[in-house]
Amino acid sequence: MSSTGSTRPATMLWLQAGGCGGCTMAVLEQGAHGWFEDLAESGIELLWHPSLSLDTGAPVRELLTAIEAGERPLDILVLEGAILRGPNGTGRFNRLSGTDRSMLDWIKGLAPQAGVVVAVGSCAAYGGVSAGLPDPTDACGLQFKQAEAGGVLGAGFRSRAGLPVINVAGCAPHPGWIAETLAAVAGQMISADDLDGFGRPRFYADHLAHHGCSRNEFYEFKASAESPADRGCLMEHLGCKATQAVGDCNQRVWNGAGSCTHAGYACVACTAPGFENARDYLVTPKLAGIPVGLPLDMPKAWFVALAALSKSATPKRVAVNARSDRVVVPPRRTAGPK
Ligand code: SF4
Ligand code: SF4
Repeated sequence: MSSTGSTRPATMLWLQAGGCGGCTMAVLEQGAHGWFEDLAESGIELLWHPSLSLDTGAPVRELLTAIEAGERPLDILVLEGAILRGPNGTGRFNRLSGTDRSMLDWIKGLAPQAGVVVAVGSCAAYGGVSAGLPDPTDACGLQFKQAEAGGVLGAGFRSRAGLPVINVAGCAPHPGWIAETLAAVAGQMISADDLDGFGRPRFYADHLAHHGCSRNEFYEFKASAESPADRGCLMEHLGCKATQAVGDCNQRVWNGAGSCTHAGYACVACTAPGFENARDYLVTPKLAGIPVGLPLDMPKAWFVALAALSKSATPKRVAVNARSDRVVVPPRRTAGPK
């Protein structure tokens, strides 16, 4: 059964506003046989996507107009990219091609007709990179402007199904986060209780990006990398925020193989509102030698005490390998047969 409560497919309209298109690029990796087959298996009919559909011009204008007028049912409205509210609140920095109307205007007209509204990516959710300071376009998310509730639709907005905007935050989000959210929406298997305080689906937001990182052993001993090629933990010196960033990034991994930290890049907490305004992403900000960003659920004094204890007990293998680009000291083995 679809989100319509009937056996017809759930209809989905995907729009793109102020963003890079990376969320669409991400979701195209979804599914063993491709995203379109994945959508069909989830009971979703894609009405139109500006980059992937063949239709342009009059047929698209007629579709959007019919949805806005309530003449064509829309079960899922997806927005990718931030809404550019400038100049002066007109939204005319970003008009939907061929319509002479701003995306701001279209979204305000279409959202009330949608069964569920889904923001795909941190730009559509919170403003994201598009809203990075000094934010000349006045970019904004659908129901948040960075961490502040409100956004384009207002904090009190609820879709026809009674849900706030579902924020599949990430820059770009994992294709599985997007696809599983859409499947849950189409199957009426998601409620407000399944979202966290920033509207993120808890099936991935109840995890930390740190969980499952291949560098976890180095983290436990506070054996830290000092240059990007080193194998050690990236938190102490190289800016990793994964102990504070929601996401199961290191558990489900990208393309079945990689993740940011696995590849040697610090987590920049791309699932968090306002992440775009950090500076010096690859340097850990410190106060009196202690990282400013500590694990959210651990008091600072505990962290400092445990770090000192861990460092004093670090095995030579871990300490040496942390500062090397390969295994220099292998694990000790029991003697094998000669
Ligand atoms: S590199 Fe980041 S994600 Fe990996 S163990 Fe260190 S803090 Fe955790
Ligand atoms: S590891 Fe961090 S930066 Fe990378 S995708 Fe996950 S939350 Fe975003």
